[in-house]
Amino acid sequence: MDFSKIVRPLLRWYAGHARTLPWRDDPTPYRVWVSEIMLQQTRTETVIPYFERFVREIPDVRALAAAPEERLLKLWEGLGYYSRVRNLHRAAAVVVEEYGGALPHGAAQLRKLPGVGEYTAGAISSIAYGLPEPAVDGNVLRVAARLAASRENTADPACRRRVREVLRGVYPKDAASAFTQSLMELGATVCLPNGAPLCDRCPLAALCEGRRTGQAGALPVRSPRPKRKVQRRTVFLLLCGRRAAVRRRPQTGLLAGLWEFPSVAGTLPAARAEKVLGQWGVAPVSVRPLPKARHIFTHVEWKMAGYVAQVRVPVADFSWIQPETLLEKYAIPSAFRTYLQFLGKTFGLGTDRGRL
Ligand code: SF4
Repeated sequence: MDFSKIVRPLLRWYAGHARTLPWRDDPTPYRVWVSEIMLQQTRTETVIPYFERFVREIPDVRALAAAPEERLLKLWEGLGYYSRVRNLHRAAAVVVEEYGGALPHGAAQLRKLPGVGEYTAGAISSIAYGLPEPAVDGNVLRVAARLAASRENTADPACRRRVREVLRGVYPKDAASAFTQSLMELGATVCLPNGAPLCDRCPLAALCEGRRTGQAGALPVRSPRPKRKVQRRTVFLLLCGRRAAVRRRPQTGLLAGLWEFPSVAGTLPAARAEKVLGQWGVAPVSVRPLPKARHIFTHVEWKMAGYVAQVRVPVADFSWIQPETLLEKYAIPSAFRTYLQFLGKTFGLGTDRGRL
């Protein structure tokens, strides 16, 4: 497969088919950086309102470096993978300190920033700075594997490296930004995953070996992901008048340092749940079960039981917060959405994240 042949048809197609996306209006390095970090592991439609709100409130690197972490976590609430925003924050401090607040040009310097890997460095270099630097993510790997009818395992870093080198060799110097975006766009809107490429609409159909040999739907080949571990938890919504108990999660591990409703391992029946309350020194006036909930992380799945308990005295181990303040200022991960919504309904508050 001669990849140099894809450049012009792809650029022509992109000129007429690019979606309007908020980060494309004004692709400054900062906006490209924030959008690419948000788009990791997250769908475009989900990212759009988060991106718009984030850059409205935090318009540049200096504002990002100066923002309190708690506020950034709140702006990120519901997007998951919170280490992304923590790394953005750390990287912003480095950019202010070492580069006077402007993201560096070269991919090699960008890669030294916390949370910036090969892909993000390539995206910023090419999209914002117009440098011929490939940005190879899952979408681009899929397109490349299908175009070449390659059965290489795309989960193998060596495969990613090879694709990057092949693309680097064909990058158009006059249109690096559009070329990076056109590859991404083709993967996102035409050469779709899960065996569903829309070859009839593809500007590269005539060049595509995967299509010609009838293998496109079965590509790319990936080694299977390890099965998720199931962890069971019991979540307690402890209410003392108009205040609810929350606590910070440990600073390492899953959802590190975020706020949560108190919870323990295991899905406990009512009698054992009350025993836990006793161990915490909580004397409940009433305890009722809440709906079960489930949350899927990348490698772990939580299956949760829940209880709501009215208590008379707020024990000191937890922070007792008014629901309005909790919804407005505290970043509670989506894993607790069922219980957060219950809290919102109990006090007649909307918990639609878009409005918080
Ligand atoms: S022809 Fe089909 S498989 Fe090939 S790149 Fe286009 S959409 Fe993907």
